[in-house]
Amino acid sequence: MTREYDHIVVGGGSAGCAVAARLAERPGAQVCVVEAGPSDQDIRVKIPFGLVNLLGSNVRNWKRQTVPMASAGGRQVAVPRGRMLGGSGSINSMVWFRGTRADFDAWGLPGWDSTTVWDAFDSIEGRMTPARLPHPHPLSDAFGRVFPANDPNAPPTPERQSAGVFHTNMRRGARWSAADGFLRPSGADVVTGAEVDQVTFEGPRATGVKLRDGRTLKARAGVVLSAGSIESPMILMRSGIGPGADLQGAGIDVRLDAPGVGANLHDHPGFGLHFKGQGSGYGLTLGQLPAWALSPVQWLLMRSGRLTSNTVEAGAFYSVTDSDVPDIQTHFLPFLMGWQGKAIIWGSGYFADVCLCQPSSRGRLRIGKDRFQPLIDLNLFGDDWDLDMMVRGVERLRQILDTAPFEHRGAPEGFPGTGVTGDALREVIRTRAGTAYHPVGTVALGGPLDARGAVKGIENLWVADASVMPRITSANTNAPSMMIGWQIGGHVAAAATATPAASCRVAT
Ligand SMILES: Cc1cc2nc3c(=O)[nH]c(=O)nc-3n(C[C@H](O)[C@H](O)[C@H](O)COP(=O)(O)OP(=O)(O)OC[C@H]3O[C@@H](n4cnc5c(N)ncnc54)[C@H](O)[C@@H]3O)c2cc1C
Repeated sequence: MTREYDHIVVGGGSAGCAVAARLAERPGAQVCVVEAGPSDQDIRVKIPFGLVNLLGSNVRNWKRQTVPMASAGGRQVAVPRGRMLGGSGSINSMVWFRGTRADFDAWGLPGWDSTTVWDAFDSIEGRMTPARLPHPHPLSDAFGRVFPANDPNAPPTPERQSAGVFHTNMRRGARWSAADGFLRPSGADVVTGAEVDQVTFEGPRATGVKLRDGRTLKARAGVVLSAGSIESPMILMRSGIGPGADLQGAGIDVRLDAPGVGANLHDHPGFGLHFKGQGSGYGLTLGQLPAWALSPVQWLLMRSGRLTSNTVEAGAFYSVTDSDVPDIQTHFLPFLMGWQGKAIIWGSGYFADVCLCQPSSRGRLRIGKDRFQPLIDLNLFGDDWDLDMMVRGVERLRQILDTAPFEHRGAPEGFPGTGVTGDALREVIRTRAGTAYHPVGTVALGGPLDARGAVKGIENLWVADASVMPRITSANTNAPSMMIGWQIGGHVAAAATATPAASCRVAT
């Protein structure tokens, strides 16, 4: 039997949970969140440091990869995406940033100006309560003091040169995701283990979804796709909405030729410096083994200790051009990470990266013969300017780290090594850089979507997740994704209230 709801939200991730909460505020509204992955009730999700393990999971991570990118030395680059309630927000580092006011004003879209958006952030922060990371490593504290003029107790901000310990969405030393802040209190129905294949239609009107296992769910007031920047455009394309020629090539009937679906894909490129030395950061050493052994007990009993680390503990924003506005973000991790193929190696150390706040390169996501396997081309460094900026960023980061008050915890650069400069550095970045895991832009507002998130040319179908950003925000994208869900969820609720006939329920 087909189940019937007022609203179906596809994807219970950062944005989808906020959408569901907003829709469930409508009196009597029946809302169903359809999530491909399992629940988030796993201790590795709750323990902040557990993300290290989750990144290797085949169940809770979609583990997508790019196609080989000529612009990045012919490499494939990892595109991890959370696959459970909470979405990527259940495997992420919980670092909390709004972005800059100018980021949103630059979108130039009604309802997305910085004043409106800032009010929305105030609303969601009431539920997510971001706060300073409770137990940073001394190295992270020290990194937060790299700019003497800057208040080390304030979080860094992409609005100006600044450094500090990050604010994160944790509560009592545990992950507090959008599933905790929005979904569970909403009372919405949740179906897990249900991967949506495509949207169903009657004429130009979306009527529900068909799951990959053949089941169907109906939605009288409409469907909101919140499956993220990779999967939302894939669902649209499987539903016949996308670039006509690509769809025909994949054997899909074209419902709406929408060339913007899958276009405009971009992410923050990121390249890390690794430092290794005795007595510096966290790592696997004989001296640290007792602390690691005790850490689970410490976390379970007191919610303290090294397992409360979100790994990405501190960071900075700074400019490598004449502009006063930062163009580089650095994430500082007080951990030794392997750089020769192994994630974990013996020794202790730390890691600091260079991420470009506003990349110029744009890629594209396509559908191929396998309708469930996205062809992700980030076109990383397709625009040379991005690579120039990354080289300058690494040069500046090295200067910053040289003066950081690390004292006896300072360690030498193990990778790529201070001898690697100029053209050699450029080549290492081109052939080794990845991203900050912030893909956006593939179903942009003002492109395939109107400014309220509705798919142009289709009735009762909206998209609300990171894919709708016309241009990426200048820092991490989780809070902006929740804000997007909150705002578009509000538009969907308003549309349903304006046409009450659309939302009267039919018995199943
Ligand atoms: C490892 C990692 C670390 C990160 N660290 C940070 C950080 O510290 N701070 C920060 O701000 N940002 C961070 N990010 C980015 C941030 O988490 C994302 O930008 C944000 O979660 C995107 O939200 P979303 O709602 O667009 O997608 P998601 O949160 O990914 O949600 C999409 C949901 O849809 C589900 N779904 C997909 N396809 C289907 C389908 N066909 N049927 C049903 N369900 C489906 C998925 O399983 C998922 O639950 C990180 C990301 C990763 C991967």
